[in-house]
Amino acid sequence: MANVIRVLDDKVINRIAAGEVVERPASVVKELIENSIDAQASAIRLDIEEGGKKSIIVKDNGMGMSHDDAFLALERHATSKLNSEKDLRGIATMGFRGEALASIGSVSRLRLVTSDGSEDGATEIVVEGGTLKKSERVGAGRGTLVEVRNLFYNVPVRRKFLKTRDVESGHIQELVVRLALAFPPVSFVYTEDGQLKMDAPAVTSTLARIHTLYSRDVRENLIQVKSAKGDSQLSGYVAKPPYARSNMRSVLTFVNGRSVRDRLLNAAVMKAFAHLMERGRYPLAVLFLEIPPDEVDVNVHPQKAEVRFAKSKEIFDLILEGVHEALVGAPFNRTGLQKETRLLQSAVTPLNQHVFKDDREKRKGASSDLTGGQGDDLERVTAQTEVFPSEGFSALGILGQLPHSFLVLYGVDDLVIIDQHAAHERVLFDHLLQTVLAGEPVESQDLLLPNILHYSPVEARLMAAHLGLLQKIGFRIEEFGDNDFVVKGVPVWLKNQDLEAFFAGLVEIMLDTGLAGDTDRMREELLKTVACRGAVKESTPMRSEEIGSLLKALDKSNFSEVCPHGRPLAVRYTFNEIRKKMGRR
Ligand code: ADP
Ligand code: MG
Repeated sequence: MANVIRVLDDKVINRIAAGEVVERPASVVKELIENSIDAQASAIRLDIEEGGKKSIIVKDNGMGMSHDDAFLALERHATSKLNSEKDLRGIATMGFRGEALASIGSVSRLRLVTSDGSEDGATEIVVEGGTLKKSERVGAGRGTLVEVRNLFYNVPVRRKFLKTRDVESGHIQELVVRLALAFPPVSFVYTEDGQLKMDAPAVTSTLARIHTLYSRDVRENLIQVKSAKGDSQLSGYVAKPPYARSNMRSVLTFVNGRSVRDRLLNAAVMKAFAHLMERGRYPLAVLFLEIPPDEVDVNVHPQKAEVRFAKSKEIFDLILEGVHEALVGAPFNRTGLQKETRLLQSAVTPLNQHVFKDDREKRKGASSDLTGGQGDDLERVTAQTEVFPSEGFSALGILGQLPHSFLVLYGVDDLVIIDQHAAHERVLFDHLLQTVLAGEPVESQDLLLPNILHYSPVEARLMAAHLGLLQKIGFRIEEFGDNDFVVKGVPVWLKNQDLEAFFAGLVEIMLDTGLAGDTDRMREELLKTVACRGAVKESTPMRSEEIGSLLKALDKSNFSEVCPHGRPLAVRYTFNEIRKKMGRR
């Protein structure tokens, strides 16, 4: 029998490797830009056409390559970044396999122009489908340009699976944003089909970079994250919950300076934002993890987007706790008001009294018949609202309640409108969660007539599984045989409710969230529903003492900006905004 086993030639090996390293135009961009960064470039320019399918050009001002190195660079397993097995641990550079350029060159038309700044000038090499087509010495300054045209022209299956221009450039855009965030001292210019998409000058901090890349809304609503656990550190920024996005791509994580998309990291961030975000919304986060190099394996995936952690639980907790703490520590955006209020209290009489009295005296002096009834009205308003306690929501004066359940409040320089139902929901939810976590008993009230609830076997099993939780939050409920349950008492704040409807809602949640296995999330979902049911309804009149105690409770809440479903519970208009709307300056 003839020999059938052959050693594959380099061209074939490269093309196989290309399948692993290069999935789509964005992977090419990633390899090329990371090479530029490894070459210590301080300025990188990227131009793409047709989502990178037609061409990708990366130009840098890095250290470049000598004539000989330029040829070597295009060979498989040629790398300047790794000398031995020992180096494999603790890799500090981006690339290290020495296969990117060779692989890309085997599935495209690749042109490399590079110079290390020596007198030899620059080298230009063109490779097509892995075959050298041209090489010459040219004139060019220090740095490197790599142009990749017609990616996968010789691998039709691959070419066919590339997506539309917009999808491919979407991937590239996301990648460039990640890289730009990871390397603030490097300037990035990025164009798509001749259109400028990013122009980020070199800066000295992540925050400055975020400021160039994101809109003002986001910039003004960032919360700093900074914490540590063991030998690991977490730093970065998250946007306040109302600035959430509609997909997970807004969670940007970096491990030891490398952009990484990882399920564990994402899950930890999501968990920190639980009950601060509507379903289907994702937080905007830019987070940097620093971990001892031997506790993280970046070598899992050729594209190095996924990693493996030695102490995954510790990393999860570091993120969860770090982000949570940052969120808890972030006050409702009223710092300016609070300061002015304090100043006001010590220096002058409360603003409104001051203004109204003054006004009236002026009018009195000017003419006699302008006082009368109106003046008394003003005085009454004054008497009601002159109190300016020193902090938070309860520092606001109460103007009243709109018929549709919005409370209207005012501060020294703003008008604040609160959604009474959402606010009460938040307060109840926080209270319940704390109670459950602390294992404190909740006061419950006996029902005059015990209420029997009937369920299907599936529903009954779910109910039974959550009885303990329901009892903890003040329900006196027991199994009654034959898939029935009996409710003998309810939490005090839940009186006068349609219990049938309430429990039907609960069971629905147990059923359709499919969360029965995840106790934490199940608990949260149940508490959300309970809080929603227990909270003051829309269009319910509220007395000013009730409003007062709601505001006080809100001030005690860790998350007084959003209801447990993640919707904002207050909106604020500064007097400046109002003046502008009125056409004043
Ligand atoms: P790796 O980055 O894994 O070493 P590559 O195939 O991406 O493998 O690159 C091979 C080698 O080519 C690198 O090790 C480096 O020495 C050189 N190189 C690639 N791109 C650049 C660049 N932009 N500037 C300077 N040198 C480069
Ligand atoms: Mg590389």
